[in-house]
Amino acid sequence: MNNGPDPDRVDRGELFVVATPIGNLEDMTLRAIRVLKEVDVIAAEDTRVTAHLLARYAIAQRPMALHAHNERARTEQVLQLLAANKRVALVSDAGTPGISDPGAILVEAVRAAGFRVTPVPGPSALAAALSVSGIAAERILFCGFLPAKASARRNAITELGNRTEALVLYEAPHRVLECVEDLAAGVSHPEQRRLVIAREITKIYESVHECMLEAAAQWLREDPDRLRGEFVLILSGLEAVDESADWEKTLSTLLHDLPLAQAVRLTCAISGAKRKPVYERALKLKPGQ
Ligand code: SAM
Repeated sequence: MNNGPDPDRVDRGELFVVATPIGNLEDMTLRAIRVLKEVDVIAAEDTRVTAHLLARYAIAQRPMALHAHNERARTEQVLQLLAANKRVALVSDAGTPGISDPGAILVEAVRAAGFRVTPVPGPSALAAALSVSGIAAERILFCGFLPAKASARRNAITELGNRTEALVLYEAPHRVLECVEDLAAGVSHPEQRRLVIAREITKIYESVHECMLEAAAQWLREDPDRLRGEFVLILSGLEAVDESADWEKTLSTLLHDLPLAQAVRLTCAISGAKRKPVYERALKLKPGQ
């Protein structure tokens, strides 16, 4: 509960980056509604989409367009508004601006010009999907959309395929099957990986399906409805390999027939392991030597 001074009230121009629902319009926060009512200008990725949201909350503003193709030009305009002490809100079609959406160019320029940039947090498909994935997400790698072209996508997957973090991807419905197939063919140890397919979050046909990566393409193919809508894919990371397991076996075998020093030396040469842990383990296995 914040009973202090209202952080949204300032005398100078200010940019608010406002998250909006990713499907269910009830996910609009009270603060987002108030900020959108109070600002002088709303910059929106698609003015028609935002007009629908504004109508739902009786917000009497006419948004101006700020999308991927005019963000630089509009940034100049927004800087002028801020210099005239106007307050501006940035919204995207759905979710949080700047996350696989326009916003970063504007925010960077506004901050560089010395104006305050204030987040008004709320929905994001990234956080919503992670929250129901059941994949331990202390360490995640958000990848956004992988490249649309097959060869570039496969290269990206090869690069990501050894990461131990869970990978979070956005994907379009017409590419989700190919993407899942490429993941299964391209990541290390696909047989150990779990995939969560989060579809149409907060919408009527919301579904969250978890399976092994190798079974995912077949599951998607079984029902055309499973390929409809908007998708977040969450892939469990590569399990960290316990390297000690490999050299421990070598060490204990060699210790049967060889003196400790020789067994340690050979174990390090064969496995590439460091001498200290191998030597300490050898002393435990053959105390007194
Ligand atoms: N800025 C948005 C956010 O914060 O999540 C993401 C915008 S990005 C252009 C749109 C992508 O987000 C979709 O293609 C899909 O991958 C994902 N997405 C958005 N809404 C979704 C939903 N309701 N369910 C599943 N994925 C969604």
